[in-house]
Amino acid sequence: EQTEPTVQTEPTVQTGTAQPSGKNLEISHLVKQYANADRPVLDDITLTVPAGKVTVVLGPSGSGKSTLLRTVAGLEPIQGGEIALDGEVIASGKSGNAKSGRQQRSSDLRTRVGMVFQSYDLFPNKTVLGNITLAPTIVQKRPKADAEREALELLGRVGLADRKDAWPHELSGGQRQRVAICRALILHPEIMLFDEVTAALDPEMVREVLDVIVELADQGLTMMIVTHEMAFARAIADRIVLLDGGHIVEQSDDAERFFTDPASERAWQFLRTFQ
Ligand code: ADP
Ligand code: MG
Repeated sequence: EQTEPTVQTEPTVQTGTAQPSGKNLEISHLVKQYANADRPVLDDITLTVPAGKVTVVLGPSGSGKSTLLRTVAGLEPIQGGEIALDGEVIASGKSGNAKSGRQQRSSDLRTRVGMVFQSYDLFPNKTVLGNITLAPTIVQKRPKADAEREALELLGRVGLADRKDAWPHELSGGQRQRVAICRALILHPEIMLFDEVTAALDPEMVREVLDVIVELADQGLTMMIVTHEMAFARAIADRIVLLDGGHIVEQSDDAERFFTDPASERAWQFLRTFQ
């Protein structure tokens, strides 16, 4: 049985009060059904990802978390509803019906929506610097020197300035994920999506990646994060969304409350599996 969300989505953040890099993401009545599937994997999802805030999406395996992020990133067509970024529709069920299968992200979305996934592979035949500067120079046609200057600045921020000439195979998993984050950030995205970015890492490398994400949150970057690191989720979330079976079970603007006293029995059940 579905429970009503306990916290209603708040009104759109006024542009004037939004963080400089933050743009509101509005998902309304989103329906996503894979070709050949007999029912939708996301069914009537409505949620706001507030500008300058961190929205953490939780849920059991198969609940639709990755699919949700992929629809926002423009990697999956949708069959119903709408996704709007800063008031502009970036995906609509009306056009989604015409397409099938995975789609190439438009260069506009590649720039506006940054994403880092669990196995976000770097280009193996490019150095760290080459990986980060590829999209800005090719997609955005920025001068190479300019892109390299910013890439070095970003690498400095994630503690990898000395690895700029390294090849991906020479890096640890944690270093690779930090490079992947730089590769997304150099495009100055309005929102960043993280899908279980530490799930494939050895435990000692998890912290170095999570610390970078915490720093981005402190800077007011709008983010949507899927994670199984509950302590991290609790510490970083402004908003929690719990998915199950393609539905929103509960959403809360009080992360602490969600973790200590969630409204739904399903949330209690879910949280118990991490104890
Ligand atoms: P989560 O990230 O929460 O584990 P996913 O979004 O990966 O969930 O998957 C949700 C459901 O959609 C699952 O039942 C999964 O098997 C199905 N699914 C995911 N990707 C595809 C695909 N490309 N084609 C068909 N079904 C898919
Ligand atoms: Mg997933």
